[in-house]
Amino acid sequence: MAEKLIRVFEDAVTAGHCKECRAALEFYPTLNGHVMPMNAGSVPRKSIRDEASGRVIVFMSSDESHFATCPQAEAFRRRR
Ligand SMILES: [Zn+2]
Repeated sequence: MAEKLIRVFEDAVTAGHCKECRAALEFYPTLNGHVMPMNAGSVPRKSIRDEASGRVIVFMSSDESHFATCPQAEAFRRRR
């Protein structure tokens, strides 16, 4: 799968673990109020300052999203 960039806020990141596989994660707040679990140590591809809010937005690789790498990812995915 080609790398896509996910925009998240850099502040308010919380550490935790995947409930399914116990991997270490960092939970980033997304721009629309959800939470994106990234693998711990994921490196932002770039960052910008949001002029409206003054918050820093970072662009994370979708390849480092835990949704993409969790061995139990089926538990996250809605069946079609
Ligand atoms: Zn997992």
